Order: sequence, then structure tokens, then C-alpha cells
Amino acid sequence: MFFDKESFKQAYLEKFAEAEGKTLDEGTSWDKYHALVLLLKEKVSLCRALTNEAYSREKEKQVYYFSMEFLIGKLLPFYLVNMEILNLVREGLADLNINLDELLAQESDAGLGNGGLGRLAACFLDSMSFKGIKGHGNGIHYKYGLFEQKIINGFQAEIADNWLKNGYPWEMRKPDKSVVVRFKGEVRMESLKGKLTFVQENYEPILAVPYDIPVFSYRNPFYINNLRLWSAEPMAAGLDLDLFNRGEFKQAQSYKSEVEAISSILYPEDSHIAGRELRLKQEYFFVAAGLGSILQSYKKGNTLLLDFAQWVAIHINDTHAALCIPELMRLLIDEEGLGWDEAWKITVESTSYTNHTIMPEALEKWSVEMIQSLLPRIYMIIEEIDRRFREEHILNFPEDPELPAFAGVIRHGQVHMAHLAIIGSHSINGVAKLHSRLLTEQVFPQFNRIYSKRFNNKTNGVSHRRFLYAANPGLSHLITEAIGPHWKRDAEELQKLEVFLNDQSFLEQLAKVKLNNKLRLIKHVKEKQGIVLDPSSLFDVQVKRIHAYKRQLLNVFKIMNLYNQLKANPNYFIEPQTFIFGGKAAPGYHYAKTLIKLINTLAQKINTDKDVNEIIKLVFLENFNVSLAELIYPAADISEQISTAGREASGTGNMKFMMNGALTLGTLDGANIEIREAVGEENIFIFGLKAEEVLHYAYQGSYKAWDEYLQNPDLKRILDQLVCGYFQEVGGEFITIHDSLLHYNDEFFVLKDFCSYYETYQKILNLYIQKKEWSRSTLVNIARSGCFSSDRTVSEYAEKIWNIRCR
Ligand SMILES: *Cc1c(COP(=O)(O)O)cnc(C)c1O
Repeated sequence: MFFDKESFKQAYLEKFAEAEGKTLDEGTSWDKYHALVLLLKEKVSLCRALTNEAYSREKEKQVYYFSMEFLIGKLLPFYLVNMEILNLVREGLADLNINLDELLAQESDAGLGNGGLGRLAACFLDSMSFKGIKGHGNGIHYKYGLFEQKIINGFQAEIADNWLKNGYPWEMRKPDKSVVVRFKGEVRMESLKGKLTFVQENYEPILAVPYDIPVFSYRNPFYINNLRLWSAEPMAAGLDLDLFNRGEFKQAQSYKSEVEAISSILYPEDSHIAGRELRLKQEYFFVAAGLGSILQSYKKGNTLLLDFAQWVAIHINDTHAALCIPELMRLLIDEEGLGWDEAWKITVESTSYTNHTIMPEALEKWSVEMIQSLLPRIYMIIEEIDRRFREEHILNFPEDPELPAFAGVIRHGQVHMAHLAIIGSHSINGVAKLHSRLLTEQVFPQFNRIYSKRFNNKTNGVSHRRFLYAANPGLSHLITEAIGPHWKRDAEELQKLEVFLNDQSFLEQLAKVKLNNKLRLIKHVKEKQGIVLDPSSLFDVQVKRIHAYKRQLLNVFKIMNLYNQLKANPNYFIEPQTFIFGGKAAPGYHYAKTLIKLINTLAQKINTDKDVNEIIKLVFLENFNVSLAELIYPAADISEQISTAGREASGTGNMKFMMNGALTLGTLDGANIEIREAVGEENIFIFGLKAEEVLHYAYQGSYKAWDEYLQNPDLKRILDQLVCGYFQEVGGEFITIHDSLLHYNDEFFVLKDFCSYYETYQKILNLYIQKKEWSRSTLVNIARSGCFSSDRTVSEYAEKIWNIRCR
């Protein structure tokens, strides 16, 4: 990359002069940031040229990862760390009187995702590149990312996230690689030389223009992959020009904005479906554009179309991209002239699907009419897939006449996207052991009987290079000093840290790193929100999307109870504690927004109460995103992973906390179960109902939330406090929450799990005061976190699903 500071400085000065056309003194921070990104990109494309040469010598299978979301966060700091030039660049710029931190602050957090699902896609990009897999992302170039969250008067306010306002120097617009995507119209069938062909007519064409972002990983500039994001644009300027010339400006404008709407907003939904026509347009748009360009480049490669699945893997990240299946069929049949059976074989062999949720309200369904009118030819293909599926499986399972009715793609006027994805993929995976088991046993048992070989588990992982190496420089340094640098390549090497379990001095250094990370977070919180936190207190953290199933409410009840105890016994001594929350609520999700208000109202009460505010403090951190996450995970002592058992598919926050040495307080849900297997029962704090018990209650209908309320005086007081004027300044706001528990029988078992949760929390406090034991536990968590690197996950996908080798 750069051999030394001087050669970097020289290259930077040249780039700055060339790109910005002014002197360094005249340049703004943005100009200086911009020049730095251009310089790195240029270096990278040099390497890319080398890569392409290497690629063309040795043909390799390509993976395309289709995802509606990529939550990539900032690239500059991560890439500087991955290239191992952070210090060199920092010092070189300092010589030029430039503060690198000011430049880093110029980059917007690319928030092209909601939460875990989008972040997983971003971690996979890093790991695919690191592993030398030719794996590319395919998504949407949203003009506005997920909203920016502000807390005003305790409520969430949403501000548009105009992340492109200054431009985004990492991306490259590639108009010559554009693809035409067709909506609406009619399908005409004609017989050509005895063969039936389908022609879509009177359609509305939309131009999909790609923006490419380079992806490369740790010391590995030779495998530069591509994140391709598609932007929707009007076809030809002439179309609106006509209207303009006739003076019909409004109509001309409205055509343009209708088209542009497709890539303008990211739906701020998490674990819910957004049942809107625009959303369906988005799904087809990025699928058709992506597959169109894949097929174009495949055909340039001189390989037989019938061998497509041997060279190309199409992976769909949740059902948002399930239209890949009928669209690939359409391309192969209508455009390439293959027959149905050939096309189907290619489609199933190249496509694989990851399921991310088993909550019924999140399983996507679209009305037949909507698909039919928006995507007439695609609907015909879906109908044919459904017809053939039923025909085949009525023949194969004559003893079970119910089955086809259960398992078809089209039922009761709706297209079931998960069913389409299962029927059209050779692999269907869940994202943690429990989740994969529930998928086959509870959610899709009929499909599991037909396609048992297709179902498998791939437990999620996170990029340990982003969330440990780059996000926690203090800990990274300590680790490298102790076991050498190889853990950055192979996270399993972290296990070597266990030799320090009885090393007093190492444990003290570990605690010191944690303290410094708290100070780093405290400084940020002070600057952003003007709140002062106590670095000597325990940091108990719950950061993730706000959702009923994630049970932020249970945590709130714990804090209310602690507060009630402190008020009742002024001499009650406990360790100082800071409770930290963060996370966005979907703007239309009333319950989640009420929860945010409750947290802030309670924070106000506690933080201004002189009886307790030296001991406990509660804060809600605004606008939880990747950059804030990188400050929070390294500073945490306790990782709250308290979803109702069976609801959180995997979780990835739990893994990021663990590798930064926070101890998990959690239910037996998602990957918490595998974290427990890795660290042993003594190094994790598990409480609450198990998934089987939750299912049993739901099945029997035998849970009575009222009984919990009546039997536990602490709980009764807390619930009463929600609605009896205890939070004086607000009226009736929290009735929704109160009612969800008592009138709607506490769907998420908050009351049922309360005692077990509270008792387990007390156990944590007991361990926390034994500093040495605590640090040991922390070290075990870090040392055993290697299996939660996305390098491991991606290797498993490569070997077992995509059928490729990696380095
Ligand atoms: C990891 C991550 C998530 C997912 O967190 P969970 O605790 O698994 O729900 C969400 N948002 C951001 C910004 C993240 O980095």
C-alpha cells in the first residue's frame, strides 16, 4: 500500500492538489477527507486490476449475496485498520497539520439497513473478501438511509437520513452497466416454430443504474469484491421532455418522482412486514437488476448456460429477494430459450435461502392481484411453480392429502414468499441451532418432510475485525502483545488467551482496558447528549432495535424494582450501576415508541433523585447505529440478551458483546445457547422460560398474567406505578404497556420471567464485586468467542451451501 509515512504524504499531497484544485490551507475537512478516500480507492483499484488478471487466469465460482439491507457503517476507519496503515496515515496527516479524526467524522454512517439482518450482510462481505471468496453484495442504493433518531421530550423523533448530501466518495456510478427493469403491461403468448414464447408488452420500463463500492479485507487487497447498489432512474430523458415541451411540468415531474421513489427510502421495519406496493416494487427492482447483470457478465465468460449453477451461487438473505427464483426462470426461459425443466434445475441448484425469523407477522405474503398487475409474467411463473409442486407432491405423498394445501406457494389469494423460497432453493438455513430446529419442527414441518435434505443450520457470526480489532484498539493491542497478531486472521487463536486466566497482571490490564473504553464512551455521551456518566460504575447495556419480543420492558422493570428497593431502604448498599439503552423503534410501532418514552421518563426520575443518583443512573443513547455500536460494545460489562425464548432467531449483538469481554445475561434463545456451550454455565447468566415451555403455554393457553401480578407485591407495585400518577408529569401514556400485560395476557412472558431475571441479576452483582473472578470470566468470554467470527460462518456457507473452497 504505502511503504512509509513520507511516501504516503507525497501521494496524498499530489492527490489533494489534483482532485481539489486548491491548496491544503484552503481545503475544508470534507475536501481533505475526499482526497484521502480517492487516494485509497486508486490504490485499491490498482490492486483490483491485478485481481482481475489473477481471476481470469483461474476461473472461480462467484457468489452473489442478495439483500435488501447492508448496514455497512463507516468504511474509512475500518479500511485503514484492515490495510494496517491507520497509524502511518494518522502521523503523516499530523505532519501536514491535519487531524485524522476530523476527516473520519466527515464520512456518513451508511445506514442502509435496520439492524441485525443488514449488519450480518455487511459482516459477510468482510469475511467473504478475507476468505478469498469472489462474493459480491447486491442491494438497493437508497437515497435516504434509516432515519436519524433524536430524543425530544423523552419521545423518539425521526429525522431523514440524507447520507448522500455531500456525495459518497467510496462509490462509483457505472451507467454503462445499467439494466432495464419492466413493470406492469400484458403478456402475449405466441407460438414460434411450435414453441410457446412469452412477450411482455406495454410495460413501464425503469432504468436500474449500479453504484459500486469496493470491499476488501484485512491485508487482503487482492480479493476486492464489489457491493453493487442499484438506483432507479427514468428511462430516457425524452419521455419527460415530451411532457415538458407540452407544458405539462407537473406530470413530467410526477413520472420522474414515481420512478425515483423505488430507490428513495429504506423501509424502517424490523421483524415486521411492510405490506406496501412500493416495497414489492423495490424487491423486484433489485432482483431483476442484479440477475440481469449477472447473466450478462456470465454470458461474456464463454461458459455453457447449462453449467450456470456450477459457476454462480445466488444467495437470498431472507425472503425479500425470493423473486430471484421466478425472475431467473423468466430470464432462462423467455430470454435464453431454455425449457422449463432445464431452467428449473439451474434455478434450484444455484439458489439458496436464509430464513431470519419465525414470527408469523414477519413472514412475507403478497396479494395475488398485486403481483399479477405489477409483475404479470412473474406471476404466471409463480403459478406454474405452484401447480407443478402440487402435482408432484400429491403423487408422492398420497397418504397425506392435507399437505399440498398447506404447503403450496399460492393460498387464499396470497403468494407466500417463504414457501416460494423453500421450493426454489437447494438449501434453506436458519441462523442458530435452536432457530433451525424450530424452523423444521414448528414452522415448516410439511416442507421438512418433503425436502429434509435441504434444511440446515448456519449459526451467525460477526466480523471480529470490525467489532474487536478495529472497534477496541486497547483490547486488540493487549491481545496481540499476549498471543501475537495471528488472531486477526484466525479468531480461534483467541483461545490461547486462556493461559492468562491466573495471571494477575494480565487480568488487571484487561480491567484497565475496559475502564478506558468506558471513558471513551463517556466522552462521546457528554459531547452528544451532555450527560455525565460514572466510569467506576458497572455498565449494564441493552442496545438493539426496540421491540416487544426483545423485552426492553423486562429490563425497565428490573431498574424500577431496584429503585423502589433503594427508596424503601436508604441504607441499602449496592455497587454503583449505569443502565444504558439504545435502539430505534419503527416509526409506526406505537408500543415500541411508548417504551422509549418510558425509559426516558424513568431516567429523568432516577437521575434527578438525590437519594439514588450517586448510585444508579439510567440513560437512553440517541441514534444507535454502527458507529455508536463500535463505542458501546467495548465499554459494556453486562450484555442484556433477554428476548422471550424462541423469538430471537440468533442475535449478533450478543456475539459482539462477548468478544469485547461483557458477560451475557440472557434467556436460552438464539445463539445465547451456543454462547453458553462455548463459555460454560459458570461464565454466562441464564434465566427464564425455555422455548419449549413458552410453546407449551401458548399451546395450552394456561398462562395467566393476572396471577403473576397478584402474587408478587414487587411486580404489582411496578405495574401500578405505570398508571397511577407515579410518573407525575405524564398522563395515561403507559396504559398501552400496562394493558399489553394484564388485558392482553403478556404475550412475551415479561411477568412470568421477572423473578428469575431479577434473581439472576443479583448473582451478577455478587460476581462483579469479586474483581478477579469477574475479570477471569471476562477473559473466558473473549477467549472462546472465536467461533462467532463471521469467517467461520462464511466458510461453512462456502463449503456446505455454495460448494466452493476458500483459502
Ligand atoms: C449488531 C447490531 C444489531 C443487532 O443487534 P441484536 O442485539 O442482535 O439485535 C443492530 N444494530 C446494529 C447497529 C448492530 O451493530
